[in-house]
Amino acid sequence: MANIQDTDTIAAVATAVGNAGISIIRMSGGNAFDVAAKIFRGKGIFTEYPSHSIRYGKIIDPDTGEVIDEVLISKMAAPKSYTTEDVVEINCHGGFITARRILDLLFRLGIRPAEPGEFTKRAFMNGRIDLVQAEAITDLIGAITEKSSKVALSQLEGRLSQKLNRIRESLVDMLARIEVNLDYPEYDFEEVTINECVQAINGMAAELKSLVESFDYGKVLREGLNVAIIGKPNAGKSSLLNRLSGKNRAIVTDIPGTTRDVLEEYVNIRGLPVKLLDTAGLRETTDIVERIGVEKAYEAIDSADLILFVLDAQTGFEKEDEDILDKVEEYSYKVLFVVNKTDKTDEEKIKEIRGRIPEVIEISVLEDHGIDVLEKSILDYANKSGIDTDNHIIITNARHKMLLTEALDSLKSALAAADGGMTLDLISMDIKNAAEKIGYITGHEITEEIVMNIFEHFCIGK
Ligand code: GDP
Repeated sequence: MANIQDTDTIAAVATAVGNAGISIIRMSGGNAFDVAAKIFRGKGIFTEYPSHSIRYGKIIDPDTGEVIDEVLISKMAAPKSYTTEDVVEINCHGGFITARRILDLLFRLGIRPAEPGEFTKRAFMNGRIDLVQAEAITDLIGAITEKSSKVALSQLEGRLSQKLNRIRESLVDMLARIEVNLDYPEYDFEEVTINECVQAINGMAAELKSLVESFDYGKVLREGLNVAIIGKPNAGKSSLLNRLSGKNRAIVTDIPGTTRDVLEEYVNIRGLPVKLLDTAGLRETTDIVERIGVEKAYEAIDSADLILFVLDAQTGFEKEDEDILDKVEEYSYKVLFVVNKTDKTDEEKIKEIRGRIPEVIEISVLEDHGIDVLEKSILDYANKSGIDTDNHIIITNARHKMLLTEALDSLKSALAAADGGMTLDLISMDIKNAAEKIGYITGHEITEEIVMNIFEHFCIGK
């Protein structure tokens, strides 16, 4: 593992490996330009090219003179580069071999293979971006819908960091003023009053609380909402999955019990990333294969964020529905009841179902009726607090949530202490703790462990 502050020159392939038009090799560090000059042959001399220019030429093995590839090479001089160091990027032909050969050549010339996330780690260590922005880069790369990429981009641009920095600076400023009053009471500094502090802390606590509360939705945008579709055989689960995913993914048949396992489908419902799990029809069965499917369905129910319980308007409410209802009782907080096949029913049957379950969403997959209402209900469930992603700063990262919660607890403890008549010097410890926790989020305060942990999860070449 590279030292946290390594400065040797590193290289890696920055693009996905495989059959592609081009691959990009990225190199960063003090020797990048010298090494590039040794292997690149084009018009003029590499070291004399202006910064931020791109040139056409060939990569040659300096020992043998062998041409390895025709490339475009770009040069970005420190400090105006991704890492703030000298950076060279070589656009070579894609595929498995060429990039590997060029990379091997670089390693032979003393360049070290970059570790996962090492380029971004350098951007952070060199102060170009903070930790929140670095983490947003992985989110942006992994974004699964346009909405999730927008949230990641807003964090990369620093909206969350600015908010956190402002709160942290206010806390640090408050601490400094408290300490000055305590240490130099004889001087005529403007006195900071407990009321003034309580008012400011209240405001900051509200801001932190709103960030913490945004996490549930942020996590869904980042990782997707897991939705399990359950119901008795033949209720229309596979048909619903197909309709929601817009493809014929699951096999739809008239024979009950044909969805034998759990089928997964990633879909984008109006910008919300959703993982749909179509489960085997839940019923008592002696068929061993079907029984495995039923067991898997129960696992899916347990781990799902939301359950769509599909009932059949054609059959009405049956014993099998009653059994499933019993089984999902403990999950009632995350169940939406969907009555399908409203095209083939009568008022009596619907009444029968409504008699058992008052709140249902009526749909007909066949006639494409009610699907928009169902989609809206899924969106509302995922975004209970009605967060508008365009105007609201959202946190998406569990590390941020944990530290923000701790910071909020410290502020609450400061407020409780002030309420209990404690003096400013006694609540200053809580204020200091809160500032420190926020500092851990942005990277104002770092430990080697935090930094290693974050960058380990990056891909190589980033
Ligand atoms: P599953 O066993 O719950 O996955 O049910 P399927 O999706 O395989 O559907 C069972 C049968 O119901 C198929 O013949 C479907 O075409 C039919 N079906 C599904 N949705 C509807 C609907 O809205 N109306 C009617 N009339 N039939 C439907």
